[in-house]
Amino acid sequence: MRRRHRCSTWSCIAVDVQCQRLATHDGPHGASPTPTHDRHWSWTDDDPNAITVLPGTVWFHRPDRTRIKKAARLLGEWTAYGLVAALLWWCDSWAAAAVFLALELLLSVRRAHFVDLGRFTAGVWPVTPAAPPLIFGVAFATHGEGRNAKRAGLEVILGPVVVGAFSLVPRSDWPAYKRSQAAFEAQQKELHP
Ligand SMILES: [Zn+2]
Repeated sequence: MRRRHRCSTWSCIAVDVQCQRLATHDGPHGASPTPTHDRHWSWTDDDPNAITVLPGTVWFHRPDRTRIKKAARLLGEWTAYGLVAALLWWCDSWAAAAVFLALELLLSVRRAHFVDLGRFTAGVWPVTPAAPPLIFGVAFATHGEGRNAKRAGLEVILGPVVVGAFSLVPRSDWPAYKRSQAAFEAQQKELHP
């Protein structure tokens, strides 16, 4: 990513301001007194004392630091992972490196990702912050609550993420579910053609 730099030229003593254009700009230097002011001072290197007031805002917007920091952190993390993977490949096998990278990718999940396969869905999602911390856990997902609830699928907790696969509705309810879904879609089409 290329950094945006600000022109380092200052005006004369009369209006002591730093140029607000980019470092690589052509033409006269310029600076507005505030980020929203609709006029700017303009001056040239040849005659820095001759300042004219021109319409238009000239203001340097600093690059978004938080985004840059986040990108730098991610880049650092993945460079480290890449090095570990390369080391694993060299010392062990490509399979070990692939498993390591897949695990890192899995554990870096911050949002839920699901794939629907008919009656079933499989996905990975972050553990709710309120849940007690677990390094590893296995849980059954059920349809509804209580002892008689039908088993729907399996969830595996791996530290900060959960990997799970389960059916959306019990097999006995599936045809009814499909019918009601089709009816709902037809209704939606009627409402928003
Ligand atoms: Zn300038």
